[in-house]
Amino acid sequence: MKRPVVLLAALAAASSLALAGCSSSASPSPASSSSAGGTISVVASTNVYGDIAKTIGGEHVEVTSLIADESKDPHDFEATAADQLDIQNAQLLIENGGGYDPFMATMKDSTSSAAPLISAVTFSPEWKGSNPSEAVDGFNEHVFYDPQTIAAVADEVAKQLGTIDPTDASTFTANAKAFRAAIDAKVTPILTDISKAHAGEDIFVTEPVPLYLAESAGLKNVTPSAFSEAVEEGQDVPPATLLDALTLIGGGTVKILFVNAQAAGAETTQAEAKAAEAKVPVIKASELLPDGQNYVSWMTDMATQIKTALGS
Ligand SMILES: [Zn+2]
Repeated sequence: MKRPVVLLAALAAASSLALAGCSSSASPSPASSSSAGGTISVVASTNVYGDIAKTIGGEHVEVTSLIADESKDPHDFEATAADQLDIQNAQLLIENGGGYDPFMATMKDSTSSAAPLISAVTFSPEWKGSNPSEAVDGFNEHVFYDPQTIAAVADEVAKQLGTIDPTDASTFTANAKAFRAAIDAKVTPILTDISKAHAGEDIFVTEPVPLYLAESAGLKNVTPSAFSEAVEEGQDVPPATLLDALTLIGGGTVKILFVNAQAAGAETTQAEAKAAEAKVPVIKASELLPDGQNYVSWMTDMATQIKTALGS
């Protein structure tokens, strides 16, 4: 679901709390210098980007992911005073961008932070916006389901970490290279296999979360946009649109129904019931890195689920 406009109020509260915390503190905290262990402090909006930072930075980084609770919808996140402090003290910031997590830029702007802010959306070939943190109409901001975009984000993380810590720059570059190689070795072949056997087959998504992955496997999204847009905005789907959607899901051409693992509403429940009735496999797409996974194992798992659902 899209975030509501309560963010500014939440932020104002966070800022004033943060300021109160600072003024009552006896010793000043070192703002943008390395922490005691000599590690670089990185703050990522979600644990997806936190995982990328850890994979590239290894023991040289201390990573904080502001959103890591799998049961929560990242779009509904409200920043706290503690988050504000983390951002203020970070040396590198990573956001998804495209209106997904605008609190990152807002909080950075409200501090004197000079830390670079990496916006993942700007590495997507589909990105055409001008302000990386803002939503663009018609742009699917869930770029973390595009492994090639994320490989490019990893390269940028390596570059920025190398600027902060030149001594270890070659390690970061090598890690980013290995990350891309792992995607090419584990995820890409599955997507290629699916595309060979199933290119052009229809899929239905209650929200556009996993679309980049499904489309890079050659699958065709046939969801009426009025349906997915209403669900994403958290609005009621018009009855006629819902009826069309259910007819489509049960009509025999849709091969997979994707639902959002974080945000399920009445329409999603009905879509799932229709899929069960019509024996259409349902795949849950998470917006957060599931427990015990890293980015590559997660995307490998998702691609495998798609392949299995299609029966090959
Ligand atoms: Zn989403």
